[in-house]
Amino acid sequence: MRIILLGAPGSGKGTLAKKISRDFDIPQISTGDLFRAIVKENSPLAEKVKSIMASGGLVPDEITVELVKERISRPDCKKGFILDGFPRTIAQAEALEKISQIDSVILVELANEIIIDRLSSRRTCPNCGEIYSVQDNPENVCKKCSTPLIQRDDDKPETIKHRLEVYENSTSPLINFYSDRLFKVSSAGSPDQTYMPVKTFLEKLEAKGE
Ligand SMILES: [Zn+2]
Repeated sequence: MRIILLGAPGSGKGTLAKKISRDFDIPQISTGDLFRAIVKENSPLAEKVKSIMASGGLVPDEITVELVKERISRPDCKKGFILDGFPRTIAQAEALEKISQIDSVILVELANEIIIDRLSSRRTCPNCGEIYSVQDNPENVCKKCSTPLIQRDDDKPETIKHRLEVYENSTSPLINFYSDRLFKVSSAGSPDQTYMPVKTFLEKLEAKGE
């Protein structure tokens, strides 16, 4: 079962990926994790990625595709995988078609106003990284280490709006590209409510042997 997850930042895509990974025993693969792993290695490719990331540049498609290709060829991907954060462009999607079949693309949908609401109520502990919502923690102090909480720049409404625009511009063409195998789910409810229809859909897919 080879799946791609598409969804805006704050749509609950990561939580959904974890549930799928757990129940269907397939790894969740994000390009962010792949980049973090490669820079710890000692190879010409690692050096190249390190210098690109240090200069704040974007890793070129050919390197990203190469990393994904190597990752999905490992034994733990025999039953399949979930790609999270890749592909981001049509060029990447076309390159992916050449290295693997993709059975289904799950699109997690949530209205922008709800995403902005959810993300802008998020507070982070600068000391231990724990995440809270303003509603659950009106004291605004970390329950684990008593450090005053902060709002990360990423979670400020102006930044969120910009990130959502970037997401929409890059994702709309992908939605067309994968229109023949797209499964849409709303994440307006709880994480379990979001997961239920996805689980049913994937169980059918699995039964078909994909
Ligand atoms: Zn803390």
